[in-house]
Amino acid sequence: MDPNDIQIRSINKEKGKGLFAVRSFKDGDTIFEEKPLICCQFAWNQEYKYLACDNCLKPLETAEENVRRLTGNSTIILPHPECCETKKDLITECAECDTKYCSVECQNEAFSRYHKIICLRSKEKDESHPLVQLTETWKQMHYPPETATIMLLVKIVALINQASNKEDLLSIFSQFCQRTINDTDDIIHKLLGEEFVSQLDVLRQMMLKAVNTDFTEQWFTPEGFKSLWALVGTNGQGIGTSAFSRWVKNVSALELPRDERIHVDKLIDRIYDDMDREVSFFLNNEGSGLYVLQSSVNHSCVPNAVVEFPYSNNVLALKATRDIQPEEEICISYLGECCLERSRHSRWKILSSQYLFHCYCKKCLSQANDPDETSEDDDDMMEDDDN
Ligand SMILES: [Zn+2]
Ligand SMILES: [Zn+2]
Ligand SMILES: [Zn+2]
Repeated sequence: MDPNDIQIRSINKEKGKGLFAVRSFKDGDTIFEEKPLICCQFAWNQEYKYLACDNCLKPLETAEENVRRLTGNSTIILPHPECCETKKDLITECAECDTKYCSVECQNEAFSRYHKIICLRSKEKDESHPLVQLTETWKQMHYPPETATIMLLVKIVALINQASNKEDLLSIFSQFCQRTINDTDDIIHKLLGEEFVSQLDVLRQMMLKAVNTDFTEQWFTPEGFKSLWALVGTNGQGIGTSAFSRWVKNVSALELPRDERIHVDKLIDRIYDDMDREVSFFLNNEGSGLYVLQSSVNHSCVPNAVVEFPYSNNVLALKATRDIQPEEEICISYLGECCLERSRHSRWKILSSQYLFHCYCKKCLSQANDPDETSEDDDDMMEDDDN
C-alpha cells in the first residue's frame, strides 16, 4: 500500500476500520492491487477436475480443454488459440506429491511459505493420510455450492507454523476484522450449516492430527477454533478463474472482419448455452483467500469501487467506479447488482442476515423514512438463499 494513495483508518466501534482515499482517483483507476496472504481452491471444485494452480488458482487447462470439459463436447475447436493465456509448458508439480502449479515460481513460493509442512510426500493418494481424511470428511459435510473450505484453515496454520517470522504473521492475522462471540456463532452457522456445533469438534480434532499446530495452539481450543472460522467467514474473499473467459475477453478485443466476428460471437453464445446445460453455474475454478487491504474495505449501497481479478489468478485489484476525492471512504458493494436496486428494507434484510450489520450509507440514510417494503422477488430470493 502506498500511504500517499490510501490509508486504513478506524471509524467507530460499529463499523470498525475503513479504507480512505488520500489522493483523488479517476473513474476506472486501479486503487491498489494485492496478493492474498493465503488462498485455497474449494474441495469439490478440485475434486471435479477444475484444474487450477494450487498456489495462485491460475487455470491449468487451455481454453479449448476447458470448454470441451465443461460442455462434454470433445470436438469443439476454438479459433485464435493465441488468445488463450494458459502456458502449459510452464506447468510443474511438487517433486514429492502430485500438487500442481502454474509455474516454478508458484511452486517455490508455495514450498517456501506453507507447502513444506503439508506436503503429502506421496504421488499416490494415500487414503489413510490424516490430511486426505480431513478433506474427505469436509466434503461429506459440505456439498456445492461452496463458500468455504477446511483446506484454507490448514494452509493458514501451515503458513504460520512454517514461517520464521511467526509473531509478525500472527499479528497480521490478529488485525483482520474480529467478531463478538454472538456474531461468531451466527457466522459459523451461515458457513457450515445446521450441524455446525458437532462438525466443528470433529474438524478440530482431525486438524490437530493432520497438521503441526504448535505455534497456533490458541486456535485449537473449542472457542479458538470458532474464532478461526469466524475470521475466514468474515474476511474470506471469493476467487474465480477461467481459461475460457480469458479467451473470450481477448478474442473480443481483436479487430476481426465482420463475418468472422459474427461467427465467433455465435460460437461463444453456443458454448455458454452448452455449458449452462451441462454444469449450470459451475463455470470457474473457485476458491477463497484472505486479503489484508481488501478486508478493510466496507460496504456501501452506493459504492465507489469494485473488486476485480485482472490476471485470472489470485491477484486482486480494487478499481474506482467513479471519481473519488481525497478523504472519501472507499467502499465496495457486498450485494450483487440486482440486490442493490431493491428497497432499503430488502437490502437490510440481506445485509443483516448474511453479513450481520446494518448499513448507514448515504442511500440508506436518504431512504430511512421509506415504508418497510419488501421488493418483489425478495421472498423467492430469500428461499433460494436458504437452500
Ligand atoms: Zn500459480
Ligand atoms: Zn508436495
Ligand atoms: Zn446502504
